[in-house]
Amino acid sequence: MVKPVICADIGGSFIKFAVSAKPGQIKLLDKIATPNESWQALSQALVTLIEQWQSNYDRDSALAISTTGIVDHVADTVFAGNIRAYHTHQLRRELSQLLKRPVYIANDADCFTLAEAHLGKGSNLPIVLGAIVGTGIGGGLVINGKIIEGRGGVMAEWGHGPITRTEVSIHGRLIHLPRIRCGCGQTGCLDTLAGARGIERLHLQLHQQSLTSQQIMTLDKQSDVQAELTIQVWLAIVSEPLALMMNILSPSIVVVGGGLASEPELIARLDEQVKALILNPINAPLIVPGIFHQDGGLIGASLLGTVDLL
Ligand SMILES: [Zn+2]
Repeated sequence: MVKPVICADIGGSFIKFAVSAKPGQIKLLDKIATPNESWQALSQALVTLIEQWQSNYDRDSALAISTTGIVDHVADTVFAGNIRAYHTHQLRRELSQLLKRPVYIANDADCFTLAEAHLGKGSNLPIVLGAIVGTGIGGGLVINGKIIEGRGGVMAEWGHGPITRTEVSIHGRLIHLPRIRCGCGQTGCLDTLAGARGIERLHLQLHQQSLTSQQIMTLDKQSDVQAELTIQVWLAIVSEPLALMMNILSPSIVVVGGGLASEPELIARLDEQVKALILNPINAPLIVPGIFHQDGGLIGASLLGTVDLL
């Protein structure tokens, strides 16, 4: 009999708290604002949630956490720019002592990729690459059902490094691209031009028009000439680093998470464009929308807590 697992998805804004009776099954119990600044407040919030909902699980049920940030299992630390409460703390050791139960922690992009690799679009495939295109760019890699964490918890971060072109040619028109300083400290990262904020930035530069990424994508579907150009530039910028990473890792499938996962037509265009650039293309789709882009953190966490995948 598998014990229920307590699952928490800790983001910069909210903590989603749930119980999982079996991997992939999630019952959301609560959602609270994340106490970002204070470790005392954050750890106490978890104590309170676990006490409040204890009729849903056993006294020794594991707590499995999906979190934003870089999870370093060797140092037992999480670095998240938007959750300063984590800094200087050894999360797994301190939380398992405080909560008197096993604690598992993984990065949210890794949890999404794990969910897709076991229960979603990557089921039974050996190499599953998660490509997160949301507010920013992120990634995760699962090989043979296990998260590959990389040194210091950094893996599949295809949004960082000075990798974007300085110009792209769209139908013979040469378009100069801004090189913007990134939150990681470098200049010219894909992350600055390719996430939701990046699309908005591109559109503003190309057309001097301030629209949300959602508005730009909607206008593109309506064949608005300006939005079409923005999306063509975006596809050109994103496809090259993604193709490079696919040549390096040779994933069985690339599962898209984040806001872009709700745009299947755009992902199909990205798939076509990337397949024209990789060394071993196939006819079937290689880049597909994930099915767990809404709750991949909690579903991945439910897998972490049930089987020893790390
Ligand atoms: Zn960067």
